[in-house]
Amino acid sequence: MKIHEYQAKAILREYGVEVPRGFPVFTADEARQAAVDLGGGTVVVKAQIHAGGRGKGGGVKVVNGPDEAYETARQLLGMQLVTHQTGPEGRKVRRLLVEEGMDIQREYYLGIVVDRASNCPVVMASTEGGMEIEKVAAETPEKIIKEFVHPALGLLPFQAAKIAYKLGLEGKTVRQASKLLLNLFKAFLANDCSLVEINPLVVTGDGRIVALDAKINFDDNASYRHQDRWPELRDLDEEEPLEIEASKFGLNYIKLDGNVGCMVNGAGLAMATMDIIKLAGGEPANFLDVGGGANAEGVANAFRIILSDPNVKAVLVNIFGGIVRCDRIANGIIEAAREVEIKVPLVVRLEGTNAEEASKILEGSGIEMTVAKGLADAAQKVVAAIQ
Ligand code: ADP
Ligand code: MG
Repeated sequence: MKIHEYQAKAILREYGVEVPRGFPVFTADEARQAAVDLGGGTVVVKAQIHAGGRGKGGGVKVVNGPDEAYETARQLLGMQLVTHQTGPEGRKVRRLLVEEGMDIQREYYLGIVVDRASNCPVVMASTEGGMEIEKVAAETPEKIIKEFVHPALGLLPFQAAKIAYKLGLEGKTVRQASKLLLNLFKAFLANDCSLVEINPLVVTGDGRIVALDAKINFDDNASYRHQDRWPELRDLDEEEPLEIEASKFGLNYIKLDGNVGCMVNGAGLAMATMDIIKLAGGEPANFLDVGGGANAEGVANAFRIILSDPNVKAVLVNIFGGIVRCDRIANGIIEAAREVEIKVPLVVRLEGTNAEEASKILEGSGIEMTVAKGLADAAQKVVAAIQ
């Protein structure tokens, strides 16, 4: 789950990480008031979307005083902001962060992620802050400092100091940066983050260390532990509508760019199904795992969601009846077909528990469909159906 910069900054502030003073706003009038409340001087108006690269894309503006803040907010609100992370269609700006303009002396990069290769969190830092860190990692990986963190011990003070020294900091800023790193790590752990990124972290003219940008992603697997907070941090405007719908039914659905709708049980089989569709020359329109214990109702919901994507030109149902019985799935398909008219070709492959019974149910249903034998056959048939 992703959250906005202003929300991430509010969390960091709770952990003693210094961030610029600022206010989230939804209208140009509120932006003017925020600039007044910040003292009437230089402020920065920042588009709040779930994507980075806003500075280069024109979504971060340094302005002088409340009137300019008002005018800039008017321009940014409602615009379709395009950055290298949004894709060419961009994202609509609905919220802004108005914050105090900082006197930046140096910019650094700081990030914490879970490193799957070493099975532990890793703190990354670089003197090449402010720019695209992916580029630094690809072209000059030696410029990224890494410190692996033992999950039970947490980030240790000597590790934090080591990072600060390697960044070339001196004197009292070493102590300040070390403290910030330890606090940042506490925030990462306590909030079950999968990513915390400060780009840039800055040293100001008066020698303070401030997180100028903040990005936090939460690990969805921990959502049950954060029901008191995460739901209100969610911004549904930033999420794919069909994915929101699917999450209501506990379905793992990710929308993709292709045109073959996939209904599959089990994440592994769903991945394999997408692969084999591509091998057959097609493009999957979605990833969908209806889950091991899918019932007829779940299948019907999944079907509705797949079919409400206008890009879907054919549907492949690929079910292995292990925990779930194939006849239940068959009944789900029929239930769904009663509710929504299936206007695109349907290819079904059912294997495992009660597969034969399921075939009979489907045959007797009067729904038009192609029955496939095996995975390769199913993929070829669904791709052929589109062509
Ligand atoms: P993004 O990463 O999406 O481009 P940032 O928050 O990093 O957005 O802002 C882009 C750039 O704008 C920063 O690298 C910094 O130079 C400048 N900037 C952002 N916030 C402030 C601020 N409060 N004061 C001064 N400059 C800022
Ligand atoms: Mg940034």
